[in-house]
Amino acid sequence: MAPTSDAPLMLEVERAEGIYMYAPDGKRYADLISGIGVSHLGHRHPKVVEAIVNQVSNSYMHLMVYGEYVQSPQVKLAEKLTSLLPPSLDSVYFTNSGAEATEGAMKLAKRVTGRSGFLSCIKSYHGSTQGALSLMGDDFFKNKYKPLLPNITHINYNNVDDLSQITEQTAAVFIEAVQAEAGVIPGDERYLKAVRNRCDETGALLVLDEIQTGMGRTGSLFAFEQLGFVPDVLLLGKAFGSGMPLAAFVSSSQNMQTLSVDPPLGHITTFGGHPVCCAAALAGLNALVENGLVEDVNRKAQLFKAKLRHKSIKALRQKGLMMAIEFESAEICKRIIDNCIENGVVVDWFLFAPHCMRIAPPLIISDTQIEECCDVILQAIDRVA
Ligand code: PLP
Repeated sequence: MAPTSDAPLMLEVERAEGIYMYAPDGKRYADLISGIGVSHLGHRHPKVVEAIVNQVSNSYMHLMVYGEYVQSPQVKLAEKLTSLLPPSLDSVYFTNSGAEATEGAMKLAKRVTGRSGFLSCIKSYHGSTQGALSLMGDDFFKNKYKPLLPNITHINYNNVDDLSQITEQTAAVFIEAVQAEAGVIPGDERYLKAVRNRCDETGALLVLDEIQTGMGRTGSLFAFEQLGFVPDVLLLGKAFGSGMPLAAFVSSSQNMQTLSVDPPLGHITTFGGHPVCCAAALAGLNALVENGLVEDVNRKAQLFKAKLRHKSIKALRQKGLMMAIEFESAEICKRIIDNCIENGVVVDWFLFAPHCMRIAPPLIISDTQIEECCDVILQAIDRVA
């Protein structure tokens, strides 16, 4: 297998269930990062497993490339998702990954506006393919892959003054409701509203990347529900597939029409919206909205906050169950993370904030499990710091 870094975790997992993963020697690990924001219902949620087995055993796997046949798992999922969204977000394009959702949204914005300029924020991450990478707000990770797309401007997050850089040449602004990889930096409500207003003034599309913040993570099904405005395009991924590879960009059917004509086939994919993934996602979405998990997110977040007190913690940033513990240095943070993992709690760092510990547990985590995991983290801090 090709590596992605010279220091992979190399944790072997034989089985996973609920919030736990089990190594071949039987050692148990609590997954406090949900496989980076994916397993919000825990591992192998019974309703998701049932839907997958049912789809594979009784219906079909791949039939045809995206958009040609009527495949009921796709239709049902799009119906359910749009029933939970405002009327202007009534058309769903399914992709395999978050990066592909970003790519599709970039192309959509070009078609809808007839413009080619994009804005994104410093320390933003929207995916690793070349269009999405062009939006990434970090030169260290980009430089060796240049030239990337032209006409991309990076602005400071939460800085209203920079919004004047959104102009009549801007096709779209890509932004996160909470900057995840910067180490959980919540967007200021007034700032994000100002982004919405500036997009309206200039005719640029507002693309909200909810690939990490979506599906209940921040205390509402979608983070934008707490902001009082609706984006022009919504990006979903990660937890959207409930453990299966699935993402989407969602917009108005009027906008989406542009990808299908003059020329047709403006965005095509073989596996996007795979029926097994859509069946899993629908079961996951139903489980999420039916059992009150989202409503309990902020209470659980408060439990973490009450527990995670230590003189070596420089800051604890939270938006629901999306959390970052900031330490003095990346070196100390890394040693604490290693110690947590050794003691059975998997935590991680952030791409642009290696001095911060990532905590994003499955939303099903129980109060007792929160207590136990926080104890392990506090003991690790004691040992290292
Ligand atoms: N957008 C955000 C906010 C992300 O966190 C990620 C992945 O970490 C992506 C986009 C890209 O998603 P994927 O890894 O599925 O391509």
